[in-house]
Amino acid sequence: MPSIFTRIIGGEIPCHRLFENELVIAFLDVNPLSPGHALVVPKEEMAELHMLSPESAAALGAAVAHVAGAIMKATGAAAYNILQNNGALAHQEVMHVHFHIIPKYQDGRGLALTWKPCAIDHTAAAELATRVQRQLGA
Ligand code: 5GP
Repeated sequence: MPSIFTRIIGGEIPCHRLFENELVIAFLDVNPLSPGHALVVPKEEMAELHMLSPESAAALGAAVAHVAGAIMKATGAAAYNILQNNGALAHQEVMHVHFHIIPKYQDGRGLALTWKPCAIDHTAAAELATRVQRQLGA
């Protein structure tokens, strides 16, 4: 069954479209956190970011930067967050890759974050870095 975003890409469901090329579409979120909250979506239907083809991933990254600049100019927002959720545990609701562009305004409208950092364990970090490098073939 096609995702809701594939149905938007196909024109079956309407959207407020901001940008489109061969590989990517961007449109306004239907339940925005702030004015200008947008979604940038690859036409390749994959659930999570790491599943995308390199071509889709590259086009998506370029489009996020391009559309974010236009949203900042059009809204006059003070700042913005990029959010990209992968997996239900990470609050992903639509299982088709997408980046959120969320303008942040002086009055607080936008993404609210709870960030709870802890001190790094350098021994564990070095071991983990080695494991990831192996996965990357480095
Ligand atoms: P997620 O939690 O998966 O990262 O976010 C999914 C986002 O898609 C939500 O912010 C939600 O408002 C948005 N969304 C879901 N269905 C539609 C739709 O039919 N049209 C648009 N424009 N946005 C949608």
